[in-house]
Amino acid sequence: MKSSRIIGPNEPLQFVEIDTPIPIGTQVLVKVKSVGVCHSDLHLWEGGYDLGDGKFMKVTDRGVKYPVTPGHEIVGTVEEFGDNVKGYAKGDQVLVYPWVGCGQCPACKVENENLCDAPKSLGVFQDGGYSDYSLIPHFKYLAKLDGVDPESATSLACSGLTAYTAIKKSNQNFPEFLVIIGAGGLGLMGVQIAKYVTKSKIICVDIDEQKLNIAKEMGADFIINSKDPDTAEKIISICNGKGADSVVDFVNAPLTAKMGLTVLRKRGNLVLVGLFGGSLELSLVTIPLKSITIQGAYTGNYSDMVELLNLARKGIINPMISKRYSLGDANSALNDLKARKIIGRAVINP
Ligand code: NAD
Ligand code: ZN
Repeated sequence: MKSSRIIGPNEPLQFVEIDTPIPIGTQVLVKVKSVGVCHSDLHLWEGGYDLGDGKFMKVTDRGVKYPVTPGHEIVGTVEEFGDNVKGYAKGDQVLVYPWVGCGQCPACKVENENLCDAPKSLGVFQDGGYSDYSLIPHFKYLAKLDGVDPESATSLACSGLTAYTAIKKSNQNFPEFLVIIGAGGLGLMGVQIAKYVTKSKIICVDIDEQKLNIAKEMGADFIINSKDPDTAEKIISICNGKGADSVVDFVNAPLTAKMGLTVLRKRGNLVLVGLFGGSLELSLVTIPLKSITIQGAYTGNYSDMVELLNLARKGIINPMISKRYSLGDANSALNDLKARKIIGRAVINP
């Protein structure tokens, strides 16, 4: 099989040909039709995350081993499977749940494998879908597309799923005003999902005018370019002078998280999702006095991914795929994402 692999931080991806694995037991070999290009693939390629104050969290310290084949938004067809696989036949179109856990820890026991203590996620800790074939450890990680467009479905494994988890968290205080920061792959899914899940007025913030206009087309009630120094004041004024009930930060860098906290009203809820990173000084007394909740959201569980497939099947959500690359062109896909040239999601079609 052919794969585009990360061989080390910031080195060009290597296009390699290796033996196609033969599935055994519960394993399924999926012929990859389309794989989404996520900003997290970029962090993996860059070697880690910015912790602020000049510090860096290396992905190798989180257990990543190079070389690794990235790609966690995998859609394809069942090609071959082991003797213990039930319910699937050759040719079935499937979406892969990539957030594979250890199966033993408290999170895995309640089927939140995305929050596993010892994660084995596909495209991060084991080889993923920048490849013409992908070996899936168990058929329980597959979901049939049943009519959902394969390219659009890729987004449901990460960008849609993460946005779904985050928006549900942001909806816990029944927001009248919800701010979504970042109108990238995740944020645009966030706008569509918020439109469906919440009853909020949605205020979308980004630094890119084109992406903001698309957020508006997708349902944002207000759009604000945060290059404007008065962004926080503008948001508070939209929210009747009181501030937003909830903020979901799909960027999560010092400037965006700080702005999120600034615009939050009493009893507000801040959900941090992006991995742009950095650090922030908190005014501690404000948190109890305003009774603010700050929480993180990391991807989502299998059953939420299946719910999202249903929403996509009904046309309630429509992931936006704007660019397509071949497997040999994976370097361009990542470079274009880095240069902020991608609207919504790009996919690689091996
Ligand atoms: P993307 O590159 O598609 O989009 C990022 C968006 O943020 C762009 O629209 C960009 O213009 C905007 N942006 C950048 N800096 C900004 C700023 N200072 N103010 C306002 N907007 C700004 O990325 P994506 O695939 O949507 O991923 C977003 C982040 O979420 C990445 O860090 C990614 O690794 C992370 N992520 C987290 C999870 C999770 O489970 N927590 C899952 C997937 C991705
Ligand atoms: Zn992702």
